[in-house]
Amino acid sequence: MNLFDLKGRVAIVTGGNGGIGLGMAKGMASIGASIVVAGRNADKAADAVKQLQDMGAEAVFIPVDVSDDKSCADLIAASAAHFGRLDILINNAGINNRKQPHEYEMAEWREVLDINLNSAFACCQAAYPHMQEAGGGKIINIGSMYSLFGGAFTVPYAASKGGIVQMTKGLAAAWAKDNIQVNAVLPGWIDTELTQNARRVLSDLNDNVLRRTPAGRWGDIEDMAGIAAFLASSASDFVTGTAIPVDGGYAVLG
Ligand code: NDP
Repeated sequence: MNLFDLKGRVAIVTGGNGGIGLGMAKGMASIGASIVVAGRNADKAADAVKQLQDMGAEAVFIPVDVSDDKSCADLIAASAAHFGRLDILINNAGINNRKQPHEYEMAEWREVLDINLNSAFACCQAAYPHMQEAGGGKIINIGSMYSLFGGAFTVPYAASKGGIVQMTKGLAAAWAKDNIQVNAVLPGWIDTELTQNARRVLSDLNDNVLRRTPAGRWGDIEDMAGIAAFLASSASDFVTGTAIPVDGGYAVLG
């Protein structure tokens, strides 16, 4: 029995063209999965696809703008058509927009909720019949430490990431009968474009992360590979509805 074998399995990763999404795509590719890299930036995607192919994986770029429900549905349909099946979906695409709560335009609030939360639901809905047809599936939704904690300067982001956890629990309960496991991953502070931008704006962020994280360092995208391999493979067949921190211990400190 090989618990960690994804040969013949097809995975979509939204935002798989860089950062955490690419780290998770590599984790699945390393145990045999075929990968759909989904995102907007085609140059970044070409580089990501090449990295995955260099590992020996089948990989393809399918463009998506996850803020558009139809684009999400088209992504799922095109992926299933390309590979003939769909087994794994990682809802990872996300943005942040930091300011004081009273300063947001409603359009800014909606943009964060659309990209971080509503898109994940649209992709899950579209993926469901394909996973039913495959006899089961794995959905991994990317939350955040802000799924757990409040953020005074990041209220829509935290609301979207809190929503990810509750959505995950509901889908897990609903689709367990279809052998579909739905889990969330809550990354701590991972060194990516998103947090490099934050570090430029927040001068004390780096020191705070290093001081507050028991592991004493930022995560890198390779730190996200193992959890993807676990939650996408049969090793996690009785794990569903959970939200697993991958954070160097950040969440255990009060
Ligand atoms: P990146 O900025 O590197 O990645 C974000 C990804 O989302 C990009 O690949 C981007 O693709 C994609 N994306 C954004 N908007 C859209 C859109 N409208 N349509 C399609 N794709 C889109 O950041 P991270 O890797 O850090 O973030 C990935 C996820 O992890 C996010 O959900 C983030 O909230 C979460 N996270 C990150 C943490 C960290 O410390 N880095 C901590 C906790 C959670 P493109 O470039 O093509 O637009």
